Amino acid sequence: MALVVQKYGGTSVGSLERMERVAERAIAASRAGDQVVMIVSAMAGETNRLLGLASQVTPLPDARELDVLASTGEQVSAALVALTVQKLGHPARSLLGSQIRIRTDGAFTKARILEIEGTKLLDTVANGKIAVVAGFQGVDDAGDINTLGRGGSDTTAVAIAAAIRADVCEIYTDVDGVYTTDPNICRKARKIDRISYEEMLELASLGAKVLQIRSVEVAMKYGVPIHVRSSFSDRPGTIVAGEEGLEKVVVTGIAYDKSEGKVQLINVPDKPGVVATVFGMLADQNVSVDMIIQSPSREGGHTTDVTFTVPKQDLARTKESIERCAREIGGAAIEYDMDIVKVSIVGLGMRSHAGVASRMFRILAEEGINIQAISTSEIKVSCVIASKYTELAVRALHTGFGLDRDDLELE
Ligand code: ADP
Ligand code: ASP
Ligand code: MG
Repeated sequence: MALVVQKYGGTSVGSLERMERVAERAIAASRAGDQVVMIVSAMAGETNRLLGLASQVTPLPDARELDVLASTGEQVSAALVALTVQKLGHPARSLLGSQIRIRTDGAFTKARILEIEGTKLLDTVANGKIAVVAGFQGVDDAGDINTLGRGGSDTTAVAIAAAIRADVCEIYTDVDGVYTTDPNICRKARKIDRISYEEMLELASLGAKVLQIRSVEVAMKYGVPIHVRSSFSDRPGTIVAGEEGLEKVVVTGIAYDKSEGKVQLINVPDKPGVVATVFGMLADQNVSVDMIIQSPSREGGHTTDVTFTVPKQDLARTKESIERCAREIGGAAIEYDMDIVKVSIVGLGMRSHAGVASRMFRILAEEGINIQAISTSEIKVSCVIASKYTELAVRALHTGFGLDRDDLELE
């Protein structure tokens, strides 16, 4: 008998028919002798719909109320899935974050889980019921509902699996597993059978939304193996686990991220303290800056250009502080470019291979793609390019690093 956590994403519970399919899968596991905890997301599109309603009411909605609103999506799914399991003849019980209880830190819309009380869940499954948990939500010490950031049901699932020491944490989604790149933009993407936590963490941080970043961090910290797989088939998916037994290819996957914009401060005085002032002001506004480049001004003289990227959602705050800053330090012009994408290659094998970055630059150059900014770490290289080249760049890199699947003609 195993203790199994099964998380179903928005598409997998997107209609009453699909809820029947996932209920049947959970019941089959239970009838085979497993104890089953299901974690469910809101029905596909529901979280966006709810957040859209709030922004129709007011452009800057209060974060506490946003969480009260957004968490209802998962409440609806949990109740409907529990009812569906019951209708199919198996006992089930829905549980909200506050009922379990999933204690969070009070940071509305991006809370972190502090602690999970496992007894209620374990009692439910020990009594032969399937527990159906509403993902994405917790409750803070003031009794307020908190949500865990977009994609947060993944984190609910992994954190619960760690707390109750589940044997396996299955993440059911609308693709067969983790691919070498987003299969929705590259037809030649290949499913990866096994990937390390570290590589998955980089891919998730660099834009592959198949798993929420925080869920991978929690899995790595507590050693929870994750099985990412499709809710529409029985094929095995991808195991995300430690590095043992992994073949170290140079590049494991390619990710892209369109969520950032580029800001350029032109003709900044080239003297100590200026860059500290610029980024100090942004930090005071809670803007998280990603890439930074400083280069001599195009026009020469004792000035430099400072280029950096920030999340597009922080643009209003960035503009306000950067324009104030330009007035303070004097002489600087500002340019904004929101039509950029960050394309990244990730692989543990980069640790032991030289020349990977230059190969990436050459592949992009051969497609006539200009690189606007670069950043590297031990196991990744990222380039900022114009967003209109996203698909071209991803596909060229996918082919260039030997990731294309070779069975396309057999389909
Ligand atoms: P769910 O609603 O089940 O949580 P998500 O939409 O959050 O599903 O995540 C699955 C999606 O992630 C896929 O449909 C796919 O477009 C996207 N994706 C991006 N990069 C990858 C990748 N490397 N492998 C698999 N899917 C990816
Ligand atoms: N429903 C939430 C979202 O759309 C959480 C999730 O699906 O994981 O972001
Ligand atoms: Mg998701």
